[in-house]
Amino acid sequence: MAVLPIRKYGDEVLRVPTDPVDTIDDSLQKLIDDMVDTMYAAPGVGLAANQVGVSKRLMLIDLSVGKRPGELHVFINPEIIEAEGEITEEEGCLSIPDFVEVVTRPQRVRLRYLDRNGEQREMWGEGLMARAMCHEVDHLNGGLFVDHLRGFKKDRILKKISKLVKSGMW
Ligand SMILES: [Zn+2]
Repeated sequence: MAVLPIRKYGDEVLRVPTDPVDTIDDSLQKLIDDMVDTMYAAPGVGLAANQVGVSKRLMLIDLSVGKRPGELHVFINPEIIEAEGEITEEEGCLSIPDFVEVVTRPQRVRLRYLDRNGEQREMWGEGLMARAMCHEVDHLNGGLFVDHLRGFKKDRILKKISKLVKSGMW
């Protein structure tokens, strides 16, 4: 088990849509374990494989950040198959550290995926879980939460990041 470096905004791997997982083998299980360590160490409630530089359709969510057993979800090849409602809340990202912005997301989403044993499953997420599911699926499609911002808000956050990059603090 190992804590992997988290790729930040500006890293090209975050912008490339990930490839579906075709084999659930020992190396994938090791990647999942390392991603769990990385997510808890950050700490964060979600992590997509391309955030650790692996362009595979795999993501984790644990709203308890490892504090409550049974709350770790491993989603392989996830697809959102239904979405309902709308809710606007603050959102952040481990790849865009120290920035939060309000983003509108569905209130409820239904996710179809494989678990780490290769079983096909479906799960409804609501509220923060729905938000995390949408945020991580965005990552797997090469997206970032700042893509949802418009106008002044978007300009402001991107300007601040480019300043940090130039000063070598990113
Ligand atoms: Zn993120």
